[in-house]
Amino acid sequence: MAEKIQMKVPLVEMDGDEMTRVIWQQIKDILLTPYIDLKTVYYDLGLKKRDETDDRITVEAAEATVKYGVAVKCATITPNAQRIKEYNLKQMWKSPNGTIRAILDGTVFRTPIIVKNIKPFVKTWERPITIARHAYGDVYKGVEMKITAKGRAELVFTGEDGRESREVVHDFAGPGIVMAMHNMDKSIKSFARSCFNYALDQKKDLWFAAKDTISKVYDHNFKDIFQDIYDREYNEKFSDAGIEYFYTLIDDAVARVIRSPGGFIWACKNYDGDVMSDMVATAFGSLAMMTSVLVSPDGHYEYEAAHGTVTRHYYQHLKGAETSTNPVATLFAWTGALRKRGELDGAGSLEQFACELEQAAVHTIEEGIMTKDLAVLAEGEKRMVNTRQFLEEVNARLGR
Ligand code: NAP
Ligand code: MG
Repeated sequence: MAEKIQMKVPLVEMDGDEMTRVIWQQIKDILLTPYIDLKTVYYDLGLKKRDETDDRITVEAAEATVKYGVAVKCATITPNAQRIKEYNLKQMWKSPNGTIRAILDGTVFRTPIIVKNIKPFVKTWERPITIARHAYGDVYKGVEMKITAKGRAELVFTGEDGRESREVVHDFAGPGIVMAMHNMDKSIKSFARSCFNYALDQKKDLWFAAKDTISKVYDHNFKDIFQDIYDREYNEKFSDAGIEYFYTLIDDAVARVIRSPGGFIWACKNYDGDVMSDMVATAFGSLAMMTSVLVSPDGHYEYEAAHGTVTRHYYQHLKGAETSTNPVATLFAWTGALRKRGELDGAGSLEQFACELEQAAVHTIEEGIMTKDLAVLAEGEKRMVNTRQFLEEVNARLGR
């Protein structure tokens, strides 16, 4: 065998849980370590280890990402009441993704992996649509109240000097509900910069959509911050790269997205991004074909699959059954991270290997060999294989 590809700087490797943890090891064994002198700084974010370390390990992994710049993460369990019993946990640890996002202060970009024999449900879509989701605030940090009687609800802001400003929310004649939410200019600015940087990195147009006609202060603030940063810092860079940025109303964006050929980045506020990324993923075919990358405004990257730990398949695996779980999004998390590492370190052979590995995976599916989730969607001749067989088929096509 030819000499292995060398790495200059290690990747931050975050291992995870259940079926994706099994796939993680298979990917390394079959497709990575035979070809690369794989250097990683390893963090086990499996639930057991998080519990043992009082979740310190997650914080350390995020800090290492800030230090080294590029991380690859396996899907992890976000504990709920049932998991506390199953793993006998000390407490209901927070979502690792939430912890990592809070430390990196990033934006999550989700992009579908496209193959010729799986046609999107939207006929006009030819190229991937990337959703950029603001990962802070709004309804996710909302404060809610049930109103049970007649009375006035108000928004009150008390300055440090004790001065108050007020807005009447509603004079209730009877029972109802009320909610307050917030965001911070600092977070919106990093969201905007992450989007502009990623658009330049990918050489793709950037759309941003919100509802400023109705939300004249809140959404308007997002729109103004984007425009201001664009005008001052990115206008020229975008023209040089031959790409454009524009703002439009979210309802207009939805109509345009459906009629478009794809190939752009759509920046969304937190809730819009949550909903639209599921819509786009499903319309392109499968959640198992969606990649996700967290990009911080300082240019740190964390790559992962958009799906979870595929628990149902894991329980089958534990019973000794072979499963046909799709490893493509997890594989693309690895290739995305390796390519970025290669790019940053001027390691052309690493970049090239990452591209070839992605092509080999796409060719495998396009030649009709695929896991069960895709077999129900794909056109033409197909053969369903289990996860290990799929990875071996990819390996057979690597460097062909
Ligand atoms: P999930 O793991 O994404 O799986 C949901 C269902 O989608 C699966 O049961 C499977 O359907 C299908 N699926 C997802 N990925 C697949 C793949 N690679 N290949 C084939 N089928 C796939 O979501 P979940 O069941 O809601 O969550 C499971 C665990 O993952 C939870 O503990 C949750 O906290 C965690 N989670 C983690 C992340 C993350 O780390 N980023 C994200 C989401 C969820 P069938 O069963 O019909 O085959
Ligand atoms: Mg969602």
